[in-house]
Formats: sequence, C-alpha cells, structure tokens
Amino acid sequence: MSLGEFDLIAKYFTRTPARAPLGVGDDCALLAVAPGMQLAISSDMLVEGRHFLSTVAPDRLGHKALAVNLSDLAACGARPLACTLALALPRVDEVFLAGFARGLFALADAHGIELVGGDTTQGPLNLCITVFGEVPAGAALLRSGARAGDDLYVSGTLGDARLALEVVRGTLALAGAGFAAAREAMEVPQPRVALGLALRGVASAAIDVSDGLLGDLGHVLRRSGVGAVVEVDALPRSAVLAGLPEAWQRECTLAGGDDYELLFSAPPQLAGQVQEAARAGGVAVTRIGRIEAGTALRLVDRAGAPVENRYASFDHFRG
Ligand code: ADP
Ligand code: MG
Repeated sequence: MSLGEFDLIAKYFTRTPARAPLGVGDDCALLAVAPGMQLAISSDMLVEGRHFLSTVAPDRLGHKALAVNLSDLAACGARPLACTLALALPRVDEVFLAGFARGLFALADAHGIELVGGDTTQGPLNLCITVFGEVPAGAALLRSGARAGDDLYVSGTLGDARLALEVVRGTLALAGAGFAAAREAMEVPQPRVALGLALRGVASAAIDVSDGLLGDLGHVLRRSGVGAVVEVDALPRSAVLAGLPEAWQRECTLAGGDDYELLFSAPPQLAGQVQEAARAGGVAVTRIGRIEAGTALRLVDRAGAPVENRYASFDHFRG
C-alpha cells in the first residue's frame, strides 16, 4: 500500500520549526516578523518538461526548486526566513520523494530557512515554492533604482546552464568533464543570497538573471527609465564556454537563461564597496557596462564597435 497524502506530508515534509512559531500541520503557518522589517515574498513554479527534464536526479530537483526562489530573495537583498511547497505528484514514489526532500532540506539548512507549509495533490509533476524573507523597511533592492552613470555588474559566470541544455538537445557536443561542469550549473544553481545582503545600501538596482541577461537587464532599464551599454566581451564565462566558437559564447552569455546570478548597478564611487560585497558574498563580480541616459540597450565589443542585438530572451508564451 502506498502512503496517503497526510502520511506523505508527515514523513517527508514535516520538521519541527526552530524559528517560525508554527509550521506544518495547522491551517496556516505563523511567521514572526521583527519590528522595522518588511516581508519579501516570491513564488516560482517548476513544471516537468518545461523547467526540468524527467531525467534529473530528484535531490537536484529539490535543490533547484528552492534555489530559484532563494535567488529572488537574493535579488531583493532579503534574508530568507521560510518557504511553502505546493506539490502535484503523479503517484507516490518514495525514491523520488526521499531524494527531493533531501536536496530541498540541504539547501534550506544551508540558508537557515524552514519549510512551514504547503499543499499536496495528485496530478502531473509540478512544484511551486513560495519563499518568505525579511528586509529592513525601505532597504530592499529594486529593479527601479538604476541611474545614468551607474556601473553595471554581474556575479559569477553566465551561460553554462544554456550550454548544458544545448548538449542535452543535441545541438552541441561537449567532452565529459566540460559537460559535467555545465550540467552542474544547470541542475544545481547557487543562489547569491550573501551577495544580495551585502549589496544593500550599495547597489542602486538589482535583478536575478533567470531568463537571459539581456531580457532581465531590459526589465531593469524599463523600470528605471534608463538605457545601458553592455560590453559583450567583458561578460564572465567559464573556461568550458570560453573554448567554444564566439557565436555560441555570445548566445549563451547574453541570452542563456537559468543562470541565477545577480545583475546589478551601482554608482562608480561605490566600486570599492561592490568588491567588498563580492568578498562577503563569496562570489566574483564583474563590471560589464554602464547605465546611460535614454532608453536604448546597446551592445559593444572589446574595441567599442557596435554588436547587433539579435538575441531573444526566454518567454513562456513566445518561445
Ligand atoms: P488544508 O486542507 O487546511 O489546506 P492540508 O490538508 O492541505 O491543509 O495540509 C495539511 C498541512 O500540511 C498544512 O499545514 C499544510 O500547510 C501542510 N502541507 C501540505 N502539503 C505540504 C507540503 N508538500 N510540504 C509542506 N507542508 C505541506
Ligand atoms: Mg485548512
């Protein structure tokens, strides 16, 4: 006999909360909100075949489902507090559930975040996590704060997740170690939470790169009412990607998607503090361009010559 709904929740998703006043088991969970803090809330859904392949290891899926949500908190400079998990499962598969819970709780523990509730139903495999974080009132990093003259930065490297996807799709071939590294980037992204926290009071605007650098930068530019110039040859990339033809390098770094790095702006006089934040965040940050007056998004190469912007970012209804 397979587990019922409530046994499944009790066995895989119920742990005694350490910080939340009430976790799984009642009609609502309760969170304590410290005076002077605001709640930062974000939801991200993962649909099989759309956001992940059926071949992904369950623990990696658990990690990624939470990681993409923590990445949104990072982009706002919020400290993670708690999350909920809404889960549709075709059947009770305990090997899947055990692996999924292991990956999810490992990342949750690494960030001191608690699973306090959710919903479980039968249906096509679908995962939706909502995260709750806290940020001092008025201190959240927003998309709308970029100003002409600010420098533009990105954390880590871009393009490896897309690279792995192209290998899986069969459009590119990569040798074993190179593919393993790219696949790690695709399946086990590291949310830049510590960097986001360190950028409070330093970055003027921030977003996490989930749909491709240019598309996500476009969101910042529209919300801020500014333009930008991006130096395409300055975009940080892995050694594996750097070994591929330039056209692939540009496609993956500019329009890759699933990077979960932070893209942010900061006034030039805070360049030293940006590098301090990078050290505190445990990840490199690279200056990739500048915010400009106007609304245009320009691309230039290392010689300063214009590069045509023919890159499309991901859109679920246009793909
Ligand atoms: P209700 O019917 O009141 O919405 P449910 O019967 O759906 O509550 O869920 C019972 C309890 O288990 C609730 O506290 C709910 O938050 C929690 N829960 C349900 N599914 C999950 C899950 N996948 N992960 C964590 N908690 C869950
Ligand atoms: Mg209820």
